[in-house]
Amino acid sequence: MTVSEETLYSIANVLGGEQGVEVIKALKDKQDSTVEDISTATKIQINDVRKLLYKFYNHSLVTSKRFRDKETGWFIFQWRLQPELVEAYIHGMKQKILKKLETRLEFERLHEFYHCGNPTCPKTTFEVAMETVFRCPTCGEPLHRLDNVEIVEFLEKKVSEIKEELEA
Ligand SMILES: [Zn+2]
Repeated sequence: MTVSEETLYSIANVLGGEQGVEVIKALKDKQDSTVEDISTATKIQINDVRKLLYKFYNHSLVTSKRFRDKETGWFIFQWRLQPELVEAYIHGMKQKILKKLETRLEFERLHEFYHCGNPTCPKTTFEVAMETVFRCPTCGEPLHRLDNVEIVEFLEKKVSEIKEELEA
């Protein structure tokens, strides 16, 4: 396994709830299981097992192999976990988060923010403050320049942490 069990189960839970976790556990116990095997092992209905497997398949957490049953001539599908792809999934998630943080960081760096001091009013950008002649667009009180150094530093720290994790 390239990812911890805990990580694997939490992804399964996000995608498929408690039943999702049960299905992943069953696949972990027995690779190359059929839908019927998993249903028997987890006591989850066959249709629900199938739905969960397709969901995991769409996120590349599981893969399937197809055989033709020599006696009946029907196709049999066997499912197995793809831990390397679970890793790729996490990597992809981190990249998405990184992109969001970088966009936010750039926004914070490029803008000056203003606030009236009233806790229920949102902060405004310099552009908005110019339009209202430095009055709060919500309550009309005078606006003051907000210091966003802490936010910028926090975002910079997060961005470098995630970058390090992605390069590890
Ligand atoms: Zn205000």
